[in-house]
Amino acid sequence: MRYVSTRGFAADRPLPFSDILLEGLAPDGGLYWPEAFPQLDKPARAELRRLYQHAGYPRLAAAIMGLYADDIGETELRQLTQRAYTSEKFGSPDTVPVSDLGGGLRLAHLSNGPTAAFKDLAMQLLAELFEHELERRDQVITILGATSGDTGSAAEYAMLGQPRIKVFMLSPQGRMTPFQRGQMYGLDDPRIINITVPGAFDDCQDLVKAVNADATFKAQYSIGAVNSINWGRLAAQVVYYVAAWLRVSTHDDEPVAFCVPTGNFGNIISAHIARQMGIPIDRIILATNENNVLAEFFTTGVYRIRSAAETVATSSPSMDISKASNFERFVFDLLGRDTAKTSDLFGRVLPAAGEIDLSGEPLARARGEYAFDTGSSTHADRVATIRSLYQRTGVLIDPHTADGVHVAQAFANPAGSPLICMETALPIKFADTITEAIGHPAPLPPRFAKVLDAAPHTIDLAPGDGPDRIKAIIAAR
Ligand SMILES: *Cc1c(COP(=O)(O)O)cnc(C)c1O
Repeated sequence: MRYVSTRGFAADRPLPFSDILLEGLAPDGGLYWPEAFPQLDKPARAELRRLYQHAGYPRLAAAIMGLYADDIGETELRQLTQRAYTSEKFGSPDTVPVSDLGGGLRLAHLSNGPTAAFKDLAMQLLAELFEHELERRDQVITILGATSGDTGSAAEYAMLGQPRIKVFMLSPQGRMTPFQRGQMYGLDDPRIINITVPGAFDDCQDLVKAVNADATFKAQYSIGAVNSINWGRLAAQVVYYVAAWLRVSTHDDEPVAFCVPTGNFGNIISAHIARQMGIPIDRIILATNENNVLAEFFTTGVYRIRSAAETVATSSPSMDISKASNFERFVFDLLGRDTAKTSDLFGRVLPAAGEIDLSGEPLARARGEYAFDTGSSTHADRVATIRSLYQRTGVLIDPHTADGVHVAQAFANPAGSPLICMETALPIKFADTITEAIGHPAPLPPRFAKVLDAAPHTIDLAPGDGPDRIKAIIAAR
């Protein structure tokens, strides 16, 4: 398997997995994407079913990752997935259980990992893959990132204890929930450094960009990233779409549908990949909150990004995104993998005009051949969905998952294929909204009992501190 950029880099000399694993954007500003999707025909799907039933999630993960990371040995890959997906980390040997919500709806539990969000599933494996590759190259890496809550803690808990990786994570002061703060800032490890920034997520992101703009510093300290444009994360996510399909289907041609809450197109793009590989998925439903840039695209064909000022702060904050960093990959497929067109649209038209118009044939393809559909949700919808699902079934979902379940309800058909809602976080992370919905916060699972009263370990920036302060902190460590 070899990789190319959506804007044409490496088209004449596609790169192996190991060469792009530690990379973010391609040098031309595009995103890495496999040259072709490996095809899972019926016998291959039957083999995956057998593997999963006999050897579980880690072995399924090794089989699927093996298709994309074919420059890593099979035995090594199995060891890496065994270490990433233990019962200790994910609460059960199932890793991703699926429960029945009634009325044709299912819920895939993606949030049983160490930080109670779906990002753990990809990040735990990414940490193992990074460490493996760094050891092979005899290198170390300094991860510098910005988080609005979930990415940072998933990255920190995954990288914790990997000797060749150090993490510097910027987060906005006073913007995260008490649980998210406790979880991140409570980590006491010399290789995990939390830096709090007076301001919002965008201010954190700007500081990261400014530090990365200093090429000399970047090279001197081997600065890298683990954001959702990393191909390894997307490949690792394909595994849970396949696992959810295997759990719900009874034979190898039986279709399911997925409903995925999103803002960055980071999770749902792996549903598209799984479908392109041949997993029988008859509908991929994209759910947004009030920041409905992507729902608008799948309705009108116009992708119109919004400014930070136009992006509203909602009660599903991890989806308050108005520029979806992974969307270029999907559009690349939509345009028949035309690098010149993709490059023009994302490199020139979008930055200049703030929108690209793909109504007509590309939109028809997105909704037809690629089977996408969409809907969006509001604060009132989330709260009502959390409440009614809890009253009806006793299942408590977080506000982001509720955006998905709300949208899915409009598509559910008890006589049609099962519709699997992807859970994105546990409700303990968002106490205020849960209390508004059901009158009290979600009960805290025992493994998180100490999170809320952990002593914080942070370096707090003052107003006016710029990229030089970040560089000094990195240099001092
Ligand atoms: C990251 C995150 C999302 C959004 O993920 P996308 O990358 O936009 O698909 C949704 N919900 C929660 C809880 C998250 O942490």
